[in-house]
Amino acid sequence: MVAEIPKTMQAVVYRGVNDLRVETLPVPHIGIGDLLVKVAACGVCPTDIKKIHYGTVPPPRVFGHETAGTIVRVGSRVKGFKVGDRVALHHHVPCLNCHACRHRAFAQCDQYKRTGITAGFEPAGGGYAEYVRVMSFVLPGVVKIPKRNTFVEGAMQEPVNTVLKAVKKLPLLRGDTVLVAGQGPIGLMFTRILALQGANVVASDLLVPRLKLALKWGAKWVVKADEPDFAEKVLKITSNRGLDAAIIAVPSNTAVIQAQQLLRGGGQVLLFAHTKRGDRLEIDPSTICVDEKDIMGSYSSDFTLQKQVASLVFSRKLDVRRLVTHQFHLEHTAKAVELAAKPRPDSLKIVITQ
Ligand SMILES: [Zn+2]
Ligand SMILES: [Zn+2]
Repeated sequence: MVAEIPKTMQAVVYRGVNDLRVETLPVPHIGIGDLLVKVAACGVCPTDIKKIHYGTVPPPRVFGHETAGTIVRVGSRVKGFKVGDRVALHHHVPCLNCHACRHRAFAQCDQYKRTGITAGFEPAGGGYAEYVRVMSFVLPGVVKIPKRNTFVEGAMQEPVNTVLKAVKKLPLLRGDTVLVAGQGPIGLMFTRILALQGANVVASDLLVPRLKLALKWGAKWVVKADEPDFAEKVLKITSNRGLDAAIIAVPSNTAVIQAQQLLRGGGQVLLFAHTKRGDRLEIDPSTICVDEKDIMGSYSSDFTLQKQVASLVFSRKLDVRRLVTHQFHLEHTAKAVELAAKPRPDSLKIVITQ
């Protein structure tokens, strides 16, 4: 039995730069092809933090897109889901038919760019609210959570997917040496997934506790990012051949330039955290042409990896529960965002739970 659905709910509304307010909103109405989900957990993601801090999208909106919860209402046309199902949600789902999708550039698909989950206003994820409407076009992105797994593990499907997608873009061979710059929650996921795939990971970060964690998550070596002989140390690890690849999981241009210099010829630097537009980077183009050092990016999730991600997380080969250091109740979302924006040595993934 599911409790009766109220007419109104609490939601955290973005009202302007650094302005998040707990407000009472109507519980969203759903269409015949939609679901209504009662949110149980929603991860705090850096892409939302940037929108909140820089005001890159107009208010009002309800953010939060790493969402898991329980289905409480099912549109009459919906098949395959029932009230009471515990589910993880993806707010973006590609059409799989357009020009971009045929090139597997799913994040560039027009349908993908539409956000299909809302708690009201312009759809923006809605996970920082008690209920969300899951629109018909993102229903293929709804993943059922096995009984033994938690809502938090459900909520981590989306970020883990973005990480696995990026790893798969790299033409790595087993035994390759890969630098993961930044050992926050995302960096640690990279470290673990790369290690599971047989890569030798060099992990870097400014925070020592995070380097210690990186070793537990599968890094073979750790180097403090601000060490004066950082470059020498990394090169020595590769027996002076250079890195096969580097993943930049921290929005630092210095890290990009340094990593690109440390690549072997034909290696790749993959930018994962550079989501703020308008920045500039100075790179010697001959290193790209003559040395064939690629600079590439990866953004958002790959719908076709959902099953692999579910098995990785739900089997606990990648135990995301160990990443969650802080849980905040919905009414303290502003505090949670603040902590996620300025991580402390003891803070990793922060999740809003209800
Ligand atoms: Zn995210
Ligand atoms: Zn498409």
